Amino acid sequence: MINFQYARAMDVADAVRQIAARPNAKFIAGGTNLLDLIKENVERPSWLIDVSRLPLTQIDQTAGGGLRIGAMVPNSDLAYHPLVEQRYPLLSSATLAGASAQLRNMASVGGNLMQRTRCMYFYDTATPCNKRSPNSGCSAIEGMNRNLAILGTSGSCIATHPSDMCVALAALEARVHLKGPAGDRTLPFSDFHRLPGDTPQRDTNLDTHEIITAIELPPRGFADNYSYLKIRDRLSYAFALVSVAAALEMEGNIIGEARLALGGVAHKPWRRPDVELALRGQAANEVNFARAADLLLQDARGYSHNAFKIGLARRAIVRALSQAARRTPQSQSNKKIA
Ligand SMILES: Cc1cc2nc3c(=O)[nH]c(=O)nc-3n(C[C@H](O)[C@H](O)[C@H](O)COP(=O)(O)OP(=O)(O)OC[C@H]3O[C@@H](n4cnc5c(N)ncnc54)[C@H](O)[C@@H]3O)c2cc1C
Ligand code: SF4
Repeated sequence: MINFQYARAMDVADAVRQIAARPNAKFIAGGTNLLDLIKENVERPSWLIDVSRLPLTQIDQTAGGGLRIGAMVPNSDLAYHPLVEQRYPLLSSATLAGASAQLRNMASVGGNLMQRTRCMYFYDTATPCNKRSPNSGCSAIEGMNRNLAILGTSGSCIATHPSDMCVALAALEARVHLKGPAGDRTLPFSDFHRLPGDTPQRDTNLDTHEIITAIELPPRGFADNYSYLKIRDRLSYAFALVSVAAALEMEGNIIGEARLALGGVAHKPWRRPDVELALRGQAANEVNFARAADLLLQDARGYSHNAFKIGLARRAIVRALSQAARRTPQSQSNKKIA
């Protein structure tokens, strides 16, 4: 374990001031990812700025009819919040598919967006990894890549983003609220995470010294026809091999509106608005769902150990869309622990 100094931020402005003033500083929220990375010698911050006590723990309705979720809301509070359960059950379901009850109690919404990849070489400092150590090489492309990406990869990195919550946020077209030394700004969720390109060390478009303050959901919640389907090696406490967030608005058996995002297959939640547009006006049946899956996966490329994900994703997309259309969402079977 490296030596580091610790300071607690008093308010959001203070957090931004402190991160800008301290050399090599990192925010710490629940610590469920960052502390592991420090223990593995992957992250070596000189300062930890504790943001866990910031007043960003509210979930409020917005004037426009959506929901604003503070960045420090614990994952479990988000999943079980009555407004989220009722109006955005896709988000509740995806959040409950992640980690374990104990971890969800500790983990914050902002930290979930910022968690790092689970590529095993990223955590193994004895091996080359462009994400951990730029220009050192990628051990996964010719190595153990079973869990890694099939879409949006580059010659520098084939890592995936491991979040479940983010897949639902992408499908729901959330916005990310940020604050930095230059002021406040918001990003569409689809612009928050990056593809690896030749800078895989950058996971997101968050600027240095910026903090996530909130996530905003639009009014449309797809509360009737949705499903979050997560395929993984174990039923719980495992990251997704492939996951699908599917949300539909139905007019009889005809699709009025569709949202579709994939997890476990790319460096960011994978979404193609043109595929969703193509589903509009179509009958909700397996032929049309399979066509959407083929379109969404048309640029997929398998590596030595993960080509199976292409067929798996295709079947998962068809199943999740069918579940959404039938109003039989995948159950996460996570009862609230009082
Ligand atoms: C064993 C295990 C299994 C897991 N399984 C899953 C799973 O199946 N699905 C899933 O989605 N997740 C899973 N997780 C990941 C877990 O959800 C994340 O670790 C957690 O969401 C991170 O939140 P945190 O508050 O603990 O972040 P921290 O560990 O405190 O921070 C993580 C990163 O976020 C940054 N950060 C935190 N808050 C902010 C902010 N407001 N603004 C800017 N930067 C910030 C920190 O600087 C740090 O770089 C698992 C974790 C573990 C340990
Ligand atoms: S896939 Fe990315 S994270 Fe994994 S070894 Fe290659 S560069 Fe590192």
